[in-house]
Amino acid sequence: MPANMLTEAIEQGVPLVVLSPHLDDAVLSCGALLIHAVKRTQVTVATLFTEGGPPPYTLSTRRYLRQVGTRDAESLYRERRAEDRAVLESMGVTWAHAGLTEAQHRRRTGAGSRGWWVGLLPEFGHLYPVYRLHVVSGRVTPADAGTLDDACAFIRRITGAGPALLLAPLGVGGHVDHVLARTAAGRTGARIAYYSDFPYNQRHPPDHAFVRRNGLTEARWSRLIEAKADLIRAYRTQAHALFHGECIPVVPEVFFLPDYSGDPTEGRSK
Ligand SMILES: [Zn+2]
Repeated sequence: MPANMLTEAIEQGVPLVVLSPHLDDAVLSCGALLIHAVKRTQVTVATLFTEGGPPPYTLSTRRYLRQVGTRDAESLYRERRAEDRAVLESMGVTWAHAGLTEAQHRRRTGAGSRGWWVGLLPEFGHLYPVYRLHVVSGRVTPADAGTLDDACAFIRRITGAGPALLLAPLGVGGHVDHVLARTAAGRTGARIAYYSDFPYNQRHPPDHAFVRRNGLTEARWSRLIEAKADLIRAYRTQAHALFHGECIPVVPEVFFLPDYSGDPTEGRSK
């Protein structure tokens, strides 16, 4: 990848904070760049949605749990957190888990959220009841504002230690947790570069309006991609479901970078 604000920041030793919606996204989308970066600067992967929830589950969630070979989301998430810690520690990357609940498990609160109809059909009690209609709709429901506030507070806590470059998901594929992560990052006023969400970017285009609005330029990173595949496979609970037992595509990592001149840690949108 030719020199750009991301590679320059890394060469200058600017600390890098990678915002990961789920327990695998940072490595899936940026793992090869991170192998390079951690030899040059401090790298932290900060993951937002690190908790499942108790039953009753929606039909979409029951299907997903079956796909990854378990019936219990809480023990699955315990395993996923352990996988994430092991992968990141083996790389020399610092990790932080926010402890927020993943979209498929987020419940409605307030009046009407505990009625008998919720016992009849768990979907009524969930903020994002159907995977295809809600979870990957690209739309964060206004009823989820509390999660957005919690995500902002977590990012501020992680980036507050000093100047850093925040690498946030672009939200390709429209998963609400990825879109919420992007929105939260934007609200913190940190200097942000974006990564294209792999493997969802193999089937979905980026949000061109967002890219245009923010004056972002695409950049690719092609080194160390094969080494990244070993890291992805170490997320054992996910790798099979994500790639359906097939080979992990060897494709460059894609980043969307803001224009900048001068200090790569300087925020623009306070
Ligand atoms: Zn994700």
